[in-house]
Amino acid sequence: IFFLNLKRKEFLEHERDKFLNANMLYSFTIGKKEFQQEIEKLNKIDEKNLELLRSIGKGAFGQVYEGLLRINGQEIPVAIKKLKENVYSSEKLDLIREAVALSSFDHPNLLKLYGICSFKNELNQLEVKFVLTELMNNRDLLSYLKLCRKTGQCVEYKKAVKIFMDISNACVYLESKGFIHRDLAARNCLVHVETKTNNNDLIVKLGDFGMSKELCTFPVKDYYKQMNSNDKLLPIRWMSPESISDGVYSSKTDVWSFGVIVWEVMTLGFHPFNGMDNFQVMEYIKNGGTLHIPIKCPLEMRNLMMSCWNKLSEKRPSFEEIFNYLVLIYQDKLNLDKNNNVIPIFDETYFSEISN
Ligand code: ADP
Repeated sequence: IFFLNLKRKEFLEHERDKFLNANMLYSFTIGKKEFQQEIEKLNKIDEKNLELLRSIGKGAFGQVYEGLLRINGQEIPVAIKKLKENVYSSEKLDLIREAVALSSFDHPNLLKLYGICSFKNELNQLEVKFVLTELMNNRDLLSYLKLCRKTGQCVEYKKAVKIFMDISNACVYLESKGFIHRDLAARNCLVHVETKTNNNDLIVKLGDFGMSKELCTFPVKDYYKQMNSNDKLLPIRWMSPESISDGVYSSKTDVWSFGVIVWEVMTLGFHPFNGMDNFQVMEYIKNGGTLHIPIKCPLEMRNLMMSCWNKLSEKRPSFEEIFNYLVLIYQDKLNLDKNNNVIPIFDETYFSEISN
């Protein structure tokens, strides 16, 4: 018993350190001075080199535009996040945190940050006006999936596997940096289709690192405001039982959310637990419930989802294991059912087609 307790203490300390490490960027008590220091760290871009072309989306912080950045005689297409005027400082802080998080990463499946445009306010303090990232030409993954469903466009099964490979690859990188995302969902992934090559290569990048969503493009019903929790809105439908019950986050809770992304893709953008309110969802998940998997879902994807939704977090696979498994599927190295060429499009009859 003594040995077990010691091991448990070691494990808890290890988990705590991992948690603290990952949350350094997300310190809740960041003050004005730190706020300035964070902005100082970011690459500054002169607004004169920037041209705003058209609006492409609306987010928690304000409008997102497509634009052009001119450097050294080159024109680079960029996404420009313009901070709303009269936003609360907590929202501004989220935007800075997102920019700082992005600037510390370097991975092909994480959105690249070019820099920020800043200005000095009346108190001579630096403020952020624009955040500039690489432009993804097919917007977010959820909109992409819904559009495919609406237009009856087939999504090849292999393309879906590539989407999961890209996301899990980014997560392997985040896991190696001890970084916990806490908001993995299709709406937070961005899609780019390479038009220069003939085979329309698709690449997905993780693009949202702002944790607080007081106002968002996606229905506020996707986020739940938890009492006594800094009034943060929580993405309940993507959260693991331990995050819901105890507010615990780890790479394994990100793995749970990854399983929900797999479900979102395999249903071409269905809303998880549709028809249940957030309170019902919380009770359902806490009592061991998981999303229903469509009968036509390929077995290896069913197994992947089920393993991500293991009630025991330590029994869930790591992102590295998930990535390696997906590579085998992608390379046809597993003996799979070859009938799965495209993702089936479910309609209203979906609910009679589901199984537990
Ligand atoms: P939120 O604040 O809800 O997280 P964002 O501010 O990140 O949303 O973006 C709002 C919308 O703008 C996204 O849903 C997406 O459609 C579009 N968008 C954001 N960033 C990019 C980008 N880099 N390239 C293309 N579209 C983007």
